[in-house]
Amino acid sequence: MSTDKPHIVSFHGGLHLKGHKAISNQHAIQKTSLPETIILPIIQHNGTAGKILVKPGDFVFKGQPLTKSQDVTGLPIHASTSGKVTTIIERPVVGISPRPATCIVIDTDSNDNWGDSKMPAITNYQQADKLILLERIRNAGIAGLGGAAFPTARKLAASETIDTLIINAMECEPYITCDDLLMREQSSQILQGIDILMSVTSARHCLVGIEDNKPEAVKALKTELKNKNNNISNRDNIDVLVTPTLYPSGSEKQLIKMLTGKEVPAGRLPADIGIMCQNVATAKAIYDAVIDGTPLIDRVVTVTGNGIKNPGNYLTLIGTQIIDLINQAGGYSNNLQPGQTTTLKMGGPVMGVPIHHETAPIVKAGNCLLVLHEEPNIHKQKPCIRCGECVRVCPAVLLPHQLYWHAKDENHKKLATHNLFDCIECGCCNIVCPSHIPLVDYYRFAKDQIRQESTKKQRSNKARERHEFRLQRKEKAARLRQERLANKKERLKNREKVGTVDGKKAELQAAIDRVNKKKQSAANNSPDNNEDTESTNSKRTNS
Ligand code: SF4
Ligand code: SF4
Repeated sequence: MSTDKPHIVSFHGGLHLKGHKAISNQHAIQKTSLPETIILPIIQHNGTAGKILVKPGDFVFKGQPLTKSQDVTGLPIHASTSGKVTTIIERPVVGISPRPATCIVIDTDSNDNWGDSKMPAITNYQQADKLILLERIRNAGIAGLGGAAFPTARKLAASETIDTLIINAMECEPYITCDDLLMREQSSQILQGIDILMSVTSARHCLVGIEDNKPEAVKALKTELKNKNNNISNRDNIDVLVTPTLYPSGSEKQLIKMLTGKEVPAGRLPADIGIMCQNVATAKAIYDAVIDGTPLIDRVVTVTGNGIKNPGNYLTLIGTQIIDLINQAGGYSNNLQPGQTTTLKMGGPVMGVPIHHETAPIVKAGNCLLVLHEEPNIHKQKPCIRCGECVRVCPAVLLPHQLYWHAKDENHKKLATHNLFDCIECGCCNIVCPSHIPLVDYYRFAKDQIRQESTKKQRSNKARERHEFRLQRKEKAARLRQERLANKKERLKNREKVGTVDGKKAELQAAIDRVNKKKQSAANNSPDNNEDTESTNSKRTNS
């Protein structure tokens, strides 16, 4: 059953931003040609790096695992095409803090050879064990493709109490259209991916949330839901809900509020109220892993902005260098005006992360490459005038100006009481602030500081615990040693006591034995005794 608007509720704040979607959503998804080099950061998700399984000089097949997770937060990465590992080094990657990261570099061989890297299909997933499906999703290296890159299997493993699965197909940030095109072209695979997710979570109901600026995607999903020839067993429990376009409707808590009317309490998770959100592209990746047996080695990337010649959506191998993708999209456009500079961002214009190196690779969560020719920001930051505009637009119902003051004062206690970590960094406050204060930068910096402090504290707590444990162990060992010594002394004492009585007895007995022996020997040697013996012997002979 699919309906239009059964219970759409709006959330507080938000902004109606110009979409710029038509720049990139006019053409079908284009497949990029094989790049000469693939660069794979060993960590592309929210968690720990895996153990590297290859070394320079090794040949690798397409889809071959290059790392192995070492704990529950780990995820493997896979070779996105066949070729030779040339080096494993620290290289620049895209991130909020552009620190280099360990990357496996592959010279591709242009054969795109899978070898036997594909995993066997699990077509009867409805009957499959949940643990087998989770293992497959984990082994395929799937992380949330909406941006957070949280390991999907880990999130699903905590799904005991999930009643409603929400598929996030909002794609609310301007310019980005990769999910839109994916839904238009691969709705069947997406719905089967959703079916698998419902099997794994045992969710009774699934809501697919999608903004009303994607009518073709809505139509494709609804048509496929009615198609009885596909293998979707939960079709009657999946609803496609079309919502008004409002930024940031794709944020988890805001989406839940819109589709269900429910609020996730501050500091809690959607799972605490029986809801789980997954991105629509993640559902497609799950289909690939379970039905096709292929790991996460490519994704659709929107390449857009006035600075690119052929904007559009490109099916791109993970690990492709940004400059290679720009060249695939025709290169930089020639319309750079005097006074303008070219800005590169991974993601959208509001929440995207600046790109500092064109040679950095596309990673699993890289949904958009935004190339803008624009005037540099010449607005000077002014003092806060307490106009309250930021409060009006904040979708997380926070007090952004107060957060700003406390962040400036590095007053972490106050920041905690003002729920800094409920800030989703949507940037609405930044956009409306007449004083041009880069508010989100302050929040990010403060969050980073608090996280570092907390990590430090955790480390020092652990060190203290270890120290205390060592002291306790030493004390215990000393106590045991003392006890052992005391026991030994006691035993020796007793033995001495026992030794005195028994020894004397033994000595006495030995002396008596010696005397008896002597007496016996003397008696045996006496002449009378010899005669007797001889006569006795002669008597015996005569007889
Ligand atoms: S919008 Fe800017 S100037 Fe206005 S209250 Fe917020 S921080 Fe202050
Ligand atoms: S960035 Fe944070 S504080 Fe600013 S509007 Fe968004 S949620 Fe509110």
